[in-house]
Amino acid sequence: MVIVLDKNIREDDKQRIRSFLEKNSLRVNEIAGEEETIFGAVGKVGIDPREVEILPGVQRVIPISKPYKMASREFKRDNTVVTVSGVKIGGNRVSVIAGPCAVENRDQIFESAARVAESGAVMLRGGAYKPRTSPYAFQGMAEEGIRLLREAGDEYGLPIVTEIVSSDHIPVMRDYVDVFQIGARNMQNFELLKKVGALGKPVILKRGLSATIEEWLMAAEYLLASGTEDVILCERGIRTYEKATRNTLDLSAIPVLRSLTHLPIIVDPSHAVGVRDKVPPMALAAVAAGADGLIVEVHPCPECAMSDGAQSLYPNQFEKMMRDIEVLAPVVGRSVSRRPHPKGGHESAGADLAAKLASPGSASLKGPRDAGKGPVVCAYSGGRGAYAEIAIQRFWDGEATALSTANFRDAIDAVLSGSAAFGMLPIENSLAGSVYENYDNLTRCEDIEIVGEVTIRIEHSLLAPAGSRLETIESVYSHPQALAQCEEFLSQYPGWRHIETASTSGAAQMVASEGDPSRAAIASEEAAGIYRLETLKAGIETNPRNYTRFVIVARCGEVSCESPNHASVVFSTANQPGSLHDALGIFMKHGLNLTKLESRPIQGEPWRYRFYATVTLPEGVGSSVVSGERIKAALAEMEKMSQDNGIVQGVRILGTYSTKSTN
Ligand code: PEP
Ligand code: MN
Repeated sequence: MVIVLDKNIREDDKQRIRSFLEKNSLRVNEIAGEEETIFGAVGKVGIDPREVEILPGVQRVIPISKPYKMASREFKRDNTVVTVSGVKIGGNRVSVIAGPCAVENRDQIFESAARVAESGAVMLRGGAYKPRTSPYAFQGMAEEGIRLLREAGDEYGLPIVTEIVSSDHIPVMRDYVDVFQIGARNMQNFELLKKVGALGKPVILKRGLSATIEEWLMAAEYLLASGTEDVILCERGIRTYEKATRNTLDLSAIPVLRSLTHLPIIVDPSHAVGVRDKVPPMALAAVAAGADGLIVEVHPCPECAMSDGAQSLYPNQFEKMMRDIEVLAPVVGRSVSRRPHPKGGHESAGADLAAKLASPGSASLKGPRDAGKGPVVCAYSGGRGAYAEIAIQRFWDGEATALSTANFRDAIDAVLSGSAAFGMLPIENSLAGSVYENYDNLTRCEDIEIVGEVTIRIEHSLLAPAGSRLETIESVYSHPQALAQCEEFLSQYPGWRHIETASTSGAAQMVASEGDPSRAAIASEEAAGIYRLETLKAGIETNPRNYTRFVIVARCGEVSCESPNHASVVFSTANQPGSLHDALGIFMKHGLNLTKLESRPIQGEPWRYRFYATVTLPEGVGSSVVSGERIKAALAEMEKMSQDNGIVQGVRILGTYSTKSTN
């Protein structure tokens, strides 16, 4: 049963309730949620809920109707986020685990780790004890395999996942392994589940070959009841009559599980389809269906693989798949998880930025004013629930403190004065175009630089105070851009007045404070929660392909990036034929892709323009070292051109940074 406690319960009352439950042979778990604290109590013998309900401090008792208790959504309303050495699975992330089917030798596992880390995997997989259908097939390297996997994981900053097939192996595995995998064939090996659960470590529980969702959750219950809180469910395909694929990937399990359980759900498309070319489409489909992550087989030489070669991706296929996931993730409100502690020398072109920015006090953040501990502070313009605040939460996985300021200049000032380490500035919207004010701010403030970027999908909702209905609305408040972006929806209500406000979050705040059922705001769904407004209609933007790209700024020199894959530069050119052509030719010469070119008038010099250029590496350029060198060489040449012949003038590098852009 679930016991919801009074909000201001006294500690001694809480203790008394706990003792009462434990005396009745129930196991008690305390779960502190955002809104309420609950006790989850499970055990073999039932007690009358009314006996619990009358105890002081108890608000209500909810019996759990499902046969699985601790795994059920009734037991815990908030989604579980599993943390493995700083890597998180669950929440708004997509976390990708990759590696070969089996550890085969030192070179193979090190090469695999290097390649998957470079493309953005956050954990390394590899079997050392392989449950093979044939006793004559390769059975794995056993203990030596575990040690090699650990070494490769450590070398590339990746926690390791490996399958345990027998509790006899616990003594040799326990000190090495970060996440134990229970394979499909062992899903109902209850003795193994009990022993592995008792280790208290995270476990990936694969779905059995012919297990129902309920049987699978009962297996998860064994793990939870034995002592671990960190169970990750993994859909890997089930046995059906279909022979074209190795198994049939049941993606509908994701939304079904989402309503039944709080546990994170990942998908293994490799074992599901069994054929390499079919893996990336199903991986993308899994992300689209709401998976919290993927576990994918990648081998440096699939033809030479000792097991599951046919379904193992080539490293470059994996890299492409990761890029596609980067693009898809924001569409479904997620961001791709990154490694928190990359090791120097092996950083991928894209994976290290969030990590650097996420660790306050780390080498990259030793500014005089923020060398202390505590969460990263990032300033933004707008109130609670603004899209920039959502971008901050998305980028730092909900672990940064968002500092609200009145406008873009104040956000930049907060960075300059040290009250925030970072600033989040919108720079471009996919429908409305550039945010010119911030281009100008970047030119004006020479003490800040761009250190990263993040793109989020903008989804607007019509929010109103409780009790309002579409029929009661007479006026709608929002930022002019948001009103314009919802034009089609608004045209269905020609009688409504449209009133412009400085921000979407400001509109939500105002509508909430007035409480007038005839007034509504267009703002984010997050604003509904913050201001306790009701969503009269979600997704009212005319074009759902509505994205905003934000740049993350910091004081110059406080965040260094060793292997950038992006550079933003501002310059002007001499007023003579071909000067812009010559300037841009430098990027082409160094094999860089010009992804954005914007011009702004130079104040006081009519008809002269400043150009903003963003360059990136073309798709598929491998080594991060080479990439960084290319960018540095191009920028150096640009500065030289500026000094030598004045064709290019006033070159300023706005930032060189390493990020995985989503557009
Ligand atoms: C594996 O992940 O290598 C494996 C054997 O998977 P499954 O248990 O899903 O077949
Ligand atoms: Mn395999």
